[in-house]
Amino acid sequence: MDMFEQIREHEQVVFCNDEATGLKAIIAIHSTRLGPALGGCRMYPYKTVDDALEDVLRLSKGMTYKCAAADVDFGGGKAVIIGDPTKDKSPELFRAFGQFVESIQGRFYTGTDMGTDPEDFVHALKETNCIVGVDEVYGGSGDSSVPTAQGVIFGLQATSKALWDTDDLSGKSYSIQGLGKVGYKVAEYLLENGADLYVTDINQKAIDQIVQKAKEMGAGIKVVNSDEIYSQPADIFIPCAMGGIINDDTIPQLQVKAVVGSANNQLKEERHGHILQEKGILYAPDYIVNAGGLIQVADELYSPNKERVLKKTKAIYNSLLNIYRQAESEGITTVEAANKFCENRIEARTRRNSFFSHMKRPKWAVRM
Ligand code: NAD
Repeated sequence: MDMFEQIREHEQVVFCNDEATGLKAIIAIHSTRLGPALGGCRMYPYKTVDDALEDVLRLSKGMTYKCAAADVDFGGGKAVIIGDPTKDKSPELFRAFGQFVESIQGRFYTGTDMGTDPEDFVHALKETNCIVGVDEVYGGSGDSSVPTAQGVIFGLQATSKALWDTDDLSGKSYSIQGLGKVGYKVAEYLLENGADLYVTDINQKAIDQIVQKAKEMGAGIKVVNSDEIYSQPADIFIPCAMGGIINDDTIPQLQVKAVVGSANNQLKEERHGHILQEKGILYAPDYIVNAGGLIQVADELYSPNKERVLKKTKAIYNSLLNIYRQAESEGITTVEAANKFCENRIEARTRRNSFFSHMKRPKWAVRM
């Protein structure tokens, strides 16, 4: 396929090759219409360069929508490093990656994603200021799963408002898939607020921890196997593990009234949004609900402030309610409504934000 045809929706794609460190990376900038591109850097042993390119193009486009929805002054970008994160990492490889990011001169900001962790970017930070999400001791904002979990809770409250006209999450039951950094925090909050839980995780330690917590509080909890979580008679299903879990096999099992979780790309295909709608299950688009972490790293460029991040994350509540209303009034799916909302916002703000980012960029380049 003609390469320019393949990247026609994107502004810029940079292939990064450093023989000395073995770095092979691709940086894709989908859009800078709302500001410099922002997106994590994934490390994965892609079988072919085409697979890596396809992934980075898809993920960077998703970031444009996610940034618009979260109302941060950034566009969409993403990077992928082709390699095995358990074998191929070195400080020098991430410094080389940092040099490539620096060479793009402030058009792309990045940090951790699948296969990379904040420590990797401490090395990249030696070469460029365009790094977000490192620990607080290095001037970053620290653990982004805290605002992500808060965003899921605001998403649950908005969904409860839409379904039962109340923000109160107590007295209802929730099935949670994945009790990791995000899922555990959400589960803990729900237990503390009088909810009953069905939980699953492939990690026994995570299960033991939440069961112990429920015991201390005298709260109701039922542990089920991984493949049983979809059929539990809960009110809301909260996916906090992997993507693609709303599909032809799982939808017929669902008994819940809504799906609201942090996992990325929950719908295996967009048509599954239509099937959920036909089944009367309200779906909270994942990129709206899980934006808390993005809001935190974007906010870093004004210097970290947890109160401000919480205030911005609260906006997820109203955004989601508006998307539910728009979907209902136009007879479209919630995913279609969310995409439309983002496209309208990008269109409306393009000229405003380019003016704003030119004013701000020199200041952002200085990390305090
Ligand atoms: P995590 O790795 O800390 O937790 C994931 C948990 O899911 C782990 O405990 C793991 O054992 C469990 N798990 C994996 N496969 C499973 C299976 N088949 N059945 C049941 N449990 C399974 O990840 P996290 O940071 O909590 O993120 C959870 C999801 O939210 C991911 O999809 C992530 O991409 C997404 N997300 C996270 C953030 C963030 O700030 N951490 C932001 C946006 C989106």
